[in-house]
Amino acid sequence: MPGDPFVVVGGGLAAARAVEALRGEGFDGDLVAVTSEPHRPYERPPLSKAYLRGQEDRENIFTLDEDWYARHDVDLRTSTTVVGLDPAAHRVTFADGSGLPYAKALLATGSAPRALTVPGRDLGGVHYLRTVEDADRLAGTLLPASLEGSGQVVVIGDGWIGMEVAASARELGLDVVVLGRGAHPLGVLGPELGELYGTLHQERGVRMHRQAEVVRLTGGNGQVTGVDLADATHVEATVVVVGIGVTPNVGLARAAGLELRAHELGGGLAVDGYLRTSHPDVHAAGDIASVPSPHYERPLRIEHWAAALDQGKHAGLAMLGAAEPYDLLPYFFSDQYDVGMEYKGYVDVRSPGYEVVVSGSATDRELVAFYVRDGRVEAGMAVNVWERMDDVERLIRADGPVPREELEGFVG
Ligand code: NAP
Repeated sequence: MPGDPFVVVGGGLAAARAVEALRGEGFDGDLVAVTSEPHRPYERPPLSKAYLRGQEDRENIFTLDEDWYARHDVDLRTSTTVVGLDPAAHRVTFADGSGLPYAKALLATGSAPRALTVPGRDLGGVHYLRTVEDADRLAGTLLPASLEGSGQVVVIGDGWIGMEVAASARELGLDVVVLGRGAHPLGVLGPELGELYGTLHQERGVRMHRQAEVVRLTGGNGQVTGVDLADATHVEATVVVVGIGVTPNVGLARAAGLELRAHELGGGLAVDGYLRTSHPDVHAAGDIASVPSPHYERPLRIEHWAAALDQGKHAGLAMLGAAEPYDLLPYFFSDQYDVGMEYKGYVDVRSPGYEVVVSGSATDRELVAFYVRDGRVEAGMAVNVWERMDDVERLIRADGPVPREELEGFVG
């Protein structure tokens, strides 16, 4: 209660940005940051890109300097897991049975990778990629294989992890096969723009299997040797990387009786514009938070870096009673080979009735694509076109339909 610390739970960017905002805004009460990982909070985008390829120092992935927490009088508790939350009693419980009273708590517990369920899933050489330790283990296989020029990497899943790891492994000179279960990779982009990435990877020598249903992993001496598909194809593998999505870590919140969002609305932990859960002294940010979007008039739960960054800061300010309702548009980026992209907005490509209007050149992969429904821009994606995201946002936030010519002429 008043006088008790603020407690921030999580080991990622949202947690780091929240404590930074709290201290930056002058909060001088006790502040405890708890992460179950063995080091301070860090950022994940490099883990499938430069860090995985051995081209980025470990020190660069951490959001705040090592001595920041001590300098700002933040009690950082690493390798510490919160196993219970009692909102009425304002108390968290740790795995060792001890407890801590709090005045306000922030849950920024992130997501856990969805696991394969097929036979052979526990063989050696099968990797997931979520933590920096996962990245170290995978790099420890990919980098030597790259030097020896041997082995075949099979990626199961053609989402963001799958495609970014495939690009990194190809850049290391490895043979790469991607097994996607849909008709095109990166399903969230829809067919046209997903296929832009499919073509890019094929040009760079990745073998893309579409509509691939994995039925088992094969092995020898405990090590993975391949992947069997339902159509009787066998794909040889020395390394398998699984990227088949994540599940938000809402177990703590669920057990605490906090309100969850309906599955049809994206699931996660329901919060209001101030990132408050159904208990006003418990906030949430990042992957787990389903946040009302004034623009889209629906809640959105966004599993991307920028949501953690913006919502972490917003939650910190809101815990001090300082913030406006959250109203930022979703944003994310991806780098694959020499193709960089930025994306702003939200569109549900499973809901028919939208079209894609392209400005620029798909052949040269230098374009801005707009997702348009009833003439209104719902989202925009820039490929190798830079510093236009504010203009994209202006079009998304326009009062009504945007003339097609304006969209087609967007890239001058
Ligand atoms: P993801 O981007 O959500 O993609 C998951 C992929 O796995 C989808 O293509 C999905 O296919 C497929 N899938 C789901 N279940 C499957 C199954 N049982 N067998 C085969 N395929 C299956 O998730 P991710 O690639 O695992 O990435 C994890 C998280 O990190 C995501 O939240 C992602 O947004 C984030 N991330 C973001 C970036 C970035 O912003 N650049 C980079 C890396 C990771 P369907 O489409 O058919 O469901």
